[in-house]
Amino acid sequence: MPGPAASHKPQSGRPAEPGRPPLPAVDVRVLARVRTLSAHPPQSLVIEGGGAPDREAAAFAWASLLNCQSRGDRPCGVCETCRQIAERVFRDVIVVDKEFFEEAKREGVSGTDAMRRLLPVWGQPPHGEGRRVTLFTLAHELHPSVANLLLKTLEEPRPGNVFVLLAPQRERLLQTLVSRSFVLTLPWPRARATEPDAAEWIGALLHFWETGQGWFERTGTKGGADRDLAQRIVLGLQHALAEALAQADRADRAGKTGGAGAVAVRLAKRGPVGLRRLDLALVQAQEALGQPTAPVALVLDWLATAVIDK
Ligand SMILES: [Zn+2]
Repeated sequence: MPGPAASHKPQSGRPAEPGRPPLPAVDVRVLARVRTLSAHPPQSLVIEGGGAPDREAAAFAWASLLNCQSRGDRPCGVCETCRQIAERVFRDVIVVDKEFFEEAKREGVSGTDAMRRLLPVWGQPPHGEGRRVTLFTLAHELHPSVANLLLKTLEEPRPGNVFVLLAPQRERLLQTLVSRSFVLTLPWPRARATEPDAAEWIGALLHFWETGQGWFERTGTKGGADRDLAQRIVLGLQHALAEALAQADRADRAGKTGGAGAVAVRLAKRGPVGLRRLDLALVQAQEALGQPTAPVALVLDWLATAVIDK
């Protein structure tokens, strides 16, 4: 049962001092679910659904809950452990993200070797009294050899260690990884993704991909799409892509209606290679749009052409 202080607003960690980053905000319903899981933490947890920030927030809440010194039913957000986790300096939380692989690259180490260096760490119990949590923030983008190494790791007992795999949808992970994991599905950002203006632009993109027409006059118009709209277009496409991949995987198109269903069906016609290309392009477009200096129209034009069969 939630405590008396529970509210239905997102529960954000409370910064104890100015300048300290708070734990990212997590929906109370998600917090309630990770709290239930924490009674018997699964060795591997897949967090799917939501947007990338939602998945990360849930993962950090999970890591904090398993290590918070207050041992309460939610991360206190103020103890030294919670604060270190929020600052990403806690020694029992390992984040395997883009930066992890980029740093390895700078050191001249392959991603697989960088992962291998963690094997002895995972062979040891955590330093503190909680669990060592290793987060794979982009589990769906792991190089196959890295994913296989992770799989081998999960096949062995790793006392005191838990793993968290973040992905837009479980279908984008090795099936063998998913079958060894508990899957936590966050609510999809459906309402935002299907707002009529974004849906209309997505329709135009699909039309362009199918016919090669009707796109550039749109982005060439002054004030065609602002950054917020462009981000919602990318988000809507990611949502539809996830559905398309799920449909392809389950070979089950029946009963998939509403939301981005029709878009997903049109995307699914692109086939596995086309969908993979779209996946990569959307990630790059999303990153570009996250940079305030990137011209929105150029990013959208790049996206429009990047996924066309050459
Ligand atoms: Zn705490």
